[in-house]
Amino acid sequence: MDVEHHPVLIVGGSLVGLSTAVFLADRGIRPLLVERHADTSRYARAWGVNPRTMELYRSVGLEEAIRRAQRRLDGAARRSGILRAESLAGEEHGWFDAPYVHGVYEDSGAVSPTGWAPCPQDRLEPVLRARAGALGADLRFGTVLTGFDQDAGGVTATVEDRSTGVRRRVRAEYLVGCDGNTSAVRARLGVGTSGVGTMVHNVAILFAADLTPVLRGRAFMHCQVMNEEVTGVLGTDGERWQLDALYWPANGERFEDFTEQRCVALVRAAVGVPDLPVEILGRLPWELGARVADTFAVGRVFLAGDSAHVHPPTGGFGANTGVQDAHNLAWKLAATLTGAAGPGLLASYDAERRSVGSFTVDQAVARSLQRFRNPAVADIEAVPIVDDLTVMMGYRYHSGAVVAEPDDPGPPATVGDDYENPGKPTGRPGTRAAHVPVEHGDREVSLLDLLGRQFTLLHADDGQDWRTAADRAATALGVAVAVLGVGVDLLDPAGAWPAAYGVHGAGAVLVRPDGFIGWRGADPGRVGDALRRILDRPEV
Ligand SMILES: Cc1cc2nc3c(=O)[nH]c(=O)nc-3n(C[C@H](O)[C@H](O)[C@H](O)COP(=O)(O)OP(=O)(O)OC[C@H]3O[C@@H](n4cnc5c(N)ncnc54)[C@H](O)[C@@H]3O)c2cc1C
Repeated sequence: MDVEHHPVLIVGGSLVGLSTAVFLADRGIRPLLVERHADTSRYARAWGVNPRTMELYRSVGLEEAIRRAQRRLDGAARRSGILRAESLAGEEHGWFDAPYVHGVYEDSGAVSPTGWAPCPQDRLEPVLRARAGALGADLRFGTVLTGFDQDAGGVTATVEDRSTGVRRRVRAEYLVGCDGNTSAVRARLGVGTSGVGTMVHNVAILFAADLTPVLRGRAFMHCQVMNEEVTGVLGTDGERWQLDALYWPANGERFEDFTEQRCVALVRAAVGVPDLPVEILGRLPWELGARVADTFAVGRVFLAGDSAHVHPPTGGFGANTGVQDAHNLAWKLAATLTGAAGPGLLASYDAERRSVGSFTVDQAVARSLQRFRNPAVADIEAVPIVDDLTVMMGYRYHSGAVVAEPDDPGPPATVGDDYENPGKPTGRPGTRAAHVPVEHGDREVSLLDLLGRQFTLLHADDGQDWRTAADRAATALGVAVAVLGVGVDLLDPAGAWPAAYGVHGAGAVLVRPDGFIGWRGADPGRVGDALRRILDRPEV
């Protein structure tokens, strides 16, 4: 068998695999991606892209395309919450969460140049697929990974074209397992998982029906229905409907039992109209659960997305956390593959993302327990709920790719204790670079929009010493470092940046290529050492 060579093999072409392909290809690394299915999924699944994830897509020029693809929520749906009812036609038990749903759409403007995009996965994934392909990623749908081994120099894998049965051998320097909750990559690595585990089993029933009469003008994000025949959640993208109905394997129920006839009966029970004309478009089993892989990296193989962490949908964190994994990993892979970084940079992926994954799973579980009575997990003690924006973008990394300040106490005993409210950013190393509205040339932009794919040194005053230090470090290490002087290259009319970045007087921050602060200090003589430590390059 001939061997194909690729820098990175991505297994799984759903949301996280495609995002990994986009973020890598955007940095000039053209991966091979294999996806078992012939096309992207028809099921909506995650319904929204959160503001932090939108910042990442915006940084690769995808914001407009996602806005074009997103759902057109009319005013009523934007302001409405989650309806709880016996059935759509039946008795209402109340409206739940209206302020929460209102908040997630309206409240990120002060902390981000972008905001929520109500773009479900079935609309988002084609956008990502098109961009990854346009950037030169080799995307093979209808192709399955059948096995792999790794050695010190790379990964050797076998992939099979499902339509022809032709097998090919692939040699890649790195493999990223974006193959979902039941990840075969994770199993092959022998990596276990920890956490609550399975909470409930669902069957997602995609259907077409005219529900206008029973809606009676009401609009909602979701409708939770509960009656003697069905417990589940109804939602629509404006064209098709989806019922996620609970079932209980412990009571002998199996996915195979959800025949078309039974699905029609469940939809009618959920809608509350016994003779409703219904067309079933598809059925998909899925498990609502909570688990985190015991490590996100073994040698040259990495786990990202649901293969690394599975969240209950409450909070809408799961898919978004996966995309943020992809972004964290992509710049590190690119820096390593181009020789800019030593091996320690990739080691920071597990250190940074596993703690975030674990914290976010706990937050999703806490929200799930708050909103749904679930006898299967009645004995679980929920963690205190942290506000959504802090979960999405207030996390802080501790790793070898962050240079801690001398008085930094290090990682707290409880993950999350040093996360910060994005509305009150501190600029501490390990936190996300904050959004500050600035003037650049004749444009008003976000400071985030001026951070490119490279390291950026942000300083105050005239900063000639900073410029010299950055140039010297960049030349010595052979990496690009942009230098932006606040008051020189850009203006901060509201005077917000000193507090947002914790830089007063003549200090500076070094922002990593993923938009996280890698170092902060007042001595230009330390810039070269900081860059070297972040990139795990040897001292010269
Ligand atoms: C019904 C439903 C509702 C959800 N609602 C929400 C929500 O509201 N908010 C939220 O944030 N998340 C939600 N989620 C979760 C969200 O969909 C997942 O977090 C997200 O899809 C994870 O993306 P992923 O790419 O990591 O994995 P997946 O989407 O599971 O994709 C894995 C891919 O890998 C492919 N694959 C597997 N093995 C192989 C192999 N050997 N070779 C080739 N390809 C392979 C699979 O075919 C699949 O396409 C929901 C999920 C479901 C099912």
